[in-house]
Amino acid sequence: MNLLANTPAADDLTRWDRENHLHPWAEVKSWRKADYMRVDTAEGIYLWDGAGRRFIDGPGGMWCVQIGYGRAEMARAIAEQTMKMAYTSPWTATSGPTAQLAHMIAARTPGDLNTVHFTTGGSTAVDTALRFMQFFNNRLGRPDKKVILAREKGYHGSTYLASTVTGKERFEAKFDKASDLVHFLPDVNPYRRPPGMSMAAWCDAKVADLQDAIATLGADRIGAFIAEPILCSGGVIVPPEGYHRRTFEICRAHDILYISDEVVTGFGRLGHWFASDDAFGVTPDIITMAKGMTSGYLPLGACVISDTLMARVSAPDGQDVFYNGYTYSGHPVSCAAAIANIEIMEREDILGHVRRVTPQFHSRMRRIADRFDIVGDVRGMGLLGCIECRPDLHDPTYAKDLQFGARLDAACERRGLLLRPFGAMAVFSPPLIISEAQIEEMFDIMEAGLEELSAEYN
Ligand code: PLP
Repeated sequence: MNLLANTPAADDLTRWDRENHLHPWAEVKSWRKADYMRVDTAEGIYLWDGAGRRFIDGPGGMWCVQIGYGRAEMARAIAEQTMKMAYTSPWTATSGPTAQLAHMIAARTPGDLNTVHFTTGGSTAVDTALRFMQFFNNRLGRPDKKVILAREKGYHGSTYLASTVTGKERFEAKFDKASDLVHFLPDVNPYRRPPGMSMAAWCDAKVADLQDAIATLGADRIGAFIAEPILCSGGVIVPPEGYHRRTFEICRAHDILYISDEVVTGFGRLGHWFASDDAFGVTPDIITMAKGMTSGYLPLGACVISDTLMARVSAPDGQDVFYNGYTYSGHPVSCAAAIANIEIMEREDILGHVRRVTPQFHSRMRRIADRFDIVGDVRGMGLLGCIECRPDLHDPTYAKDLQFGARLDAACERRGLLLRPFGAMAVFSPPLIISEAQIEEMFDIMEAGLEELSAEYN
């Protein structure tokens, strides 16, 4: 059914997108030449483009489409709330879905993380967390304790503060940043550890990076450590075992707030509501979340703060308004979508499903590592995966090098699978409802794509 009257011709859409729509991360010199795939319809784990070709959505939208596309229940929840009451100002009122969702999130976050401040997405959730740290330390009379420790390869978003703490592409980005606010810790990727070094020694080295930074800067100057449990956009980097727990304990010992950015890892990606506690044994001070909250059906995010922090910040006298919020904080329709999304995830036991299919997903990744000489590393956790090409193919002097991700994506796209290319890597995070048969289908296509690339590289 076509819901829009007078749908423009396909050629006009292509032209208008090219002429008037500046996409995220577009190359400015060539943006008017780029042709983006126009996705027309979607169902389950599949997308169809304007020419009617079907693709498995390997990236799950943008790490976000947990329950899959085309859910009538989501459409009903959204339509009903839209008709009942589309908007109310969060400054002066609340809505039923907003209050209910805050309660549902508090029940699923670990420890005493019960204070839910809604945002419009992941970047604004990160911004809120960092602003809260500044507010917290100003309130406690520690105006110098504000430096943020972040990590190389970390990605936290596109607002001013979130991009300031983003370690990925920070040298190439031609933006001004508040660089004095942040200190970056070196890459934690185990694949980059020196030849022969054990994982345990790598973990020690990475923990020492944090300790060194604290020793150099002084704990009385450091306000927070912000970390994704798995550095997703940086190439699905899983830090070595024990790293989360040890870094958390060090932060605790120095009263440095531990902010876990679960924008990707939250809402089931690793088979748990949140990874910090269930997968890594850490109860952060603050968790940021977005993406999977509504499975991409509508925009929403949240910054969830522990009761302990709220109690500490409530104690001092004087001006204490937390001047932070967005017109669309806790938007009633987005919250109604998030509630329906959680209900679907629970009714269908999607978290359990992720845990059940994870071994199959990873055994197919290992098979890729075993079969293909051009592959240097496969890694991931839960339904998060990354394939990186062999190190000598990274060599900038090697003509074909960093296009590996794009070339693998193109080879798979021709066979009906989309991946997300990042230089020498291709990453994937399919909808969490992916069945066992569909996992086979996805990896069969990936292997066929790798066969094609192997022939080219050799
Ligand atoms: N934090 C992490 C870990 C992310 O991966 C992203 C986006 O990919 C963000 C924050 C920013 O989220 P958004 O694009 O919704 O602002």
